[in-house]
Amino acid sequence: MMEVFKGNFTQQEPLPQEAIDAAVNVLTTGRLHRYNLKEGDAGEVSSLELEFAKSIGADFCLAVASGGYALATALRAIDVKPAQKVLTNAFTLAPVPGAIASINAVPLLVEVTENLTIDLDDLEAKAPQSEVLLLSHMRGHICDMEKLMEITNRHDIKVIEDCAHTMGAGWNDKPSGSYGVIGCFSTQTYKHLNSGEGGFLTTNDSSIIAKSIALSGSYMMFDKHLSAPEKNMFEAIKYETPNISGRMDHLRAAILRPQLKKLDKKVIRWNKLYRTVEAILDGVKGIFLIERSSKELFVGSSFQFLLMDFSYSEIQSLVTSCRNRGVELKWFGKDEPHGYTSKYDSWKYIPAQEMAKSDRIINSTLDMRLPLTFSVEDCRIIATIIRQEVEARVAS
Ligand SMILES: *Cc1c(COP(=O)(O)O)cnc(C)c1O
Repeated sequence: MMEVFKGNFTQQEPLPQEAIDAAVNVLTTGRLHRYNLKEGDAGEVSSLELEFAKSIGADFCLAVASGGYALATALRAIDVKPAQKVLTNAFTLAPVPGAIASINAVPLLVEVTENLTIDLDDLEAKAPQSEVLLLSHMRGHICDMEKLMEITNRHDIKVIEDCAHTMGAGWNDKPSGSYGVIGCFSTQTYKHLNSGEGGFLTTNDSSIIAKSIALSGSYMMFDKHLSAPEKNMFEAIKYETPNISGRMDHLRAAILRPQLKKLDKKVIRWNKLYRTVEAILDGVKGIFLIERSSKELFVGSSFQFLLMDFSYSEIQSLVTSCRNRGVELKWFGKDEPHGYTSKYDSWKYIPAQEMAKSDRIINSTLDMRLPLTFSVEDCRIIATIIRQEVEARVAS
């Protein structure tokens, strides 16, 4: 009998009791809007902003309605104009090109490497065409950040980091999100903290945070923000900045604060699951595993591997066989966008771009989530099923 995995790839852990209590407490007050505060009350949202900023060593943080909203706000806050080209990874999730398109700017795609990070040679080649890089640490893979910053600094390119999968991660002992001028994070259910929807924007730049606060829909309540610059920073901004509402509310902030305190422990658990899968797939003929640099402190909340020598139909058949055995693999190379995955050539709202190197990589990339409801034993079963299915095809 072939072993079948019975777990659920989309089942999250329940929220900690402390988060449930905090949520009930907010509901009891009836004050859910971030600016609806009792005299002298800092509020859950402002408190969370201070705590998150501190956790990544940033001067300022703004909590917002989603990760995608944080990205679009970041682009607006550094004054990206319509028709301006914004460099970004060819392999990323749809909200990244979506954020660029939302302000009528134009994504200029940069190739990715076999390690699923941005290709620094292609970045160097395209750097003269743009002043902004929206760098996506897609699925938690972090490129050589010193090299990247050397290139972008030399070309006077501002970097916005998309840290949807790198909350709690870092490069060379420096937190992910603290290299660029702005870091953007998501607290959507499938990321590292879970508030259903939500996000953060972090920066050390006082004019960027002031502008972001105003953009997010501050209704001139700047003084209610604790993670904010001096009041005079808002003097000119308040007349010039459109209100594009995307605030976070106290209910979400209340359930995020207890989770943030436990993030480090979750990272350790995720990496144990990741290393379990990796050890079983290591050395299997036909599987290309992603090399993780010793400088990369990653969060193994998902796992990717490449089948470089497999044809389209072979990968299709492998995905089907794995699914029949309970293992849900996401395949970015599928010709139709499907269930969270989409490829750059299905983003028809951006100019068509030739990405020969990325094509080969994306077409052979398989991906799965590792929710913390999985045990180490679950991961052993999952990896063994994948291993068997790959070996069956390579041997024949
Ligand atoms: C999830 C995600 C985002 C944005 O997150 P939302 O909160 O869903 O808007 C951005 N980039 C990447 C790579 C993501 O996976």
